[in-house]
Amino acid sequence: MDTPSKQPPLARFCIRCGSLLTVRQDGEQERKACPTCGWVYYPRSSSASAVAILRDDQVLMVRRKYEPFAGQWTLPSGFMECGEDPEQTASYAITSSIRPS
Ligand SMILES: [Zn+2]
Repeated sequence: MDTPSKQPPLARFCIRCGSLLTVRQDGEQERKACPTCGWVYYPRSSSASAVAILRDDQVLMVRRKYEPFAGQWTLPSGFMECGEDPEQTASYAITSSIRPS
């Protein structure tokens, strides 16, 4: 196995031609790349927004409905859509995750 530990484990094949990716040096980083067509896998993280709603000395928490971590407590939060700003994401997170009881 030639995959260094810093590489994401899920990227195994080229999205352009289907060849098995190999690891190559790219500047100071090792990156998975396609030996056939040259495509380089640049792992990216997803931006998210969370909201802390405070009252007195308490903070509002919500219970996650979906995996991962379904049933766990968290701040109201969500992933940002392309072109969305953090305030929009936060606003949607609040309205979609808080139901009056
Ligand atoms: Zn390729």
